[in-house]
Amino acid sequence: MFNRSRRNLARWFTLSMGSILVVFAGVIYYFEVEERLETLDRLLYKEARVMATSVDYELENGQWRVDLNNVPLLGNTLQPPDSEILYVRWYSDQGRLVRFFGMPPPEWLTVEPGFLTLKADSTTEPDVNPVWLRQVTLPVQEGNAAIGYLQVAIPLTTTQNNLTQLRLVLTLAVPIALGLISLTGWLLGGVAMQPIRQSYDQLQRFTSNASHELRTPLSGILSNAQVGLLLSLNSTSEMRLCLDNIVDSAKSMSVLVSNLLFLARHEGRLSPESLQKINLTHLVKSLVNDFQPQATSQHLTLTSVLPQSTVEILADPDLLRQAIVNLLDNACKYTPATGRVEICLSTHTRWATITVKDTGIGIPPEDLPHIFERFYRVGSRTADGSGFGLGLAIAKQIIEAHGGQVSVTSAAGQGTTFCIQLQTYLT
Ligand code: ADP
Repeated sequence: MFNRSRRNLARWFTLSMGSILVVFAGVIYYFEVEERLETLDRLLYKEARVMATSVDYELENGQWRVDLNNVPLLGNTLQPPDSEILYVRWYSDQGRLVRFFGMPPPEWLTVEPGFLTLKADSTTEPDVNPVWLRQVTLPVQEGNAAIGYLQVAIPLTTTQNNLTQLRLVLTLAVPIALGLISLTGWLLGGVAMQPIRQSYDQLQRFTSNASHELRTPLSGILSNAQVGLLLSLNSTSEMRLCLDNIVDSAKSMSVLVSNLLFLARHEGRLSPESLQKINLTHLVKSLVNDFQPQATSQHLTLTSVLPQSTVEILADPDLLRQAIVNLLDNACKYTPATGRVEICLSTHTRWATITVKDTGIGIPPEDLPHIFERFYRVGSRTADGSGFGLGLAIAKQIIEAHGGQVSVTSAAGQGTTFCIQLQTYLT
């Protein structure tokens, strides 16, 4: 129980911290992309501005005569060896291509002025990775009149490489951080569970000690009342009634105290030393024989469906017997006369299944989720009002101590089926 809670705590801690970490890594990556693009745009704009200022133009007969000879790369000057520029294009004020350097351009200007990220056409070499580039289209103006458009582009290769490296670092760092977070979560979970475990252990110890201490005075009351009953054979009927009541109450309290002691002592998984190989088919058969007289006296039909072969499991025979007895006892207790109670044993792959089915009063759906809780009872259901609501809690605790599961299905007024699943013994 505590380990499960600790695991859950660690899981939720890792999940929440991990989500924050992933979002954080995403944000870092986004801002890095933005910043690198901005730096690149500034550089590109600077280059384009230098070229634009080298354009000579004059108005001749109402037409702009443009001289591009002094424009770096477009004119007669050579490309500086360290220049990254992929292409430079000059379009007329009408948007028609006039001159270019580098990659072949379209005849007409097709984009609005501004920055753009593009994939360069590499139709000649289909196997080569496409080159991404950043392009700026800058209008060159005199007052409000457009003289032409200068288009410059540089490759994004360096920026892409840097971002790939950053992605790699983040992809490696995030799982490592997640591992560390889950380890921290597990350790923190342990620290958080410690006081709860201590107070739970204290409570268990108290229940165990109190039940144990109550046993002695209770058996004293019981034996004295029983002796009183024997000695009062000639006394008044009121006196005998009082003593009878004392005996009944003392017996009932003894059962309660024993149950509490049982729940306090048998907590958690059973140690391997306490387990032994038992024949489940025999156990169920002998239980049916034990319950047959009770069923007959209550006018119930008790039947069993058992497999031909033996079913073996590793279990504590007394405890397992107790769990099935509790279910059979309830089935008989909550089934009116002429009803049926059936116990079946079957195996499927590595699991043995014991079902205890009755045609009794059933359990209302709103009570079903609480039925295995300690002291939970569905009103006062038996005629004699016996029972403390501990039988199913004990059965569940025993089955879980064996690494098995117990479940219930029921329909009010139609009957109830309890199902125990235990791992079979493999030789
Ligand atoms: P109790 O000692 O009261 O029987 P249990 O823990 O064995 O305590 O059962 C808890 C409650 O579950 C009972 O009070 C009863 O209302 C309900 N219950 C258990 N088994 C059955 C059953 N086979 N049919 C109907 N109700 C049942």
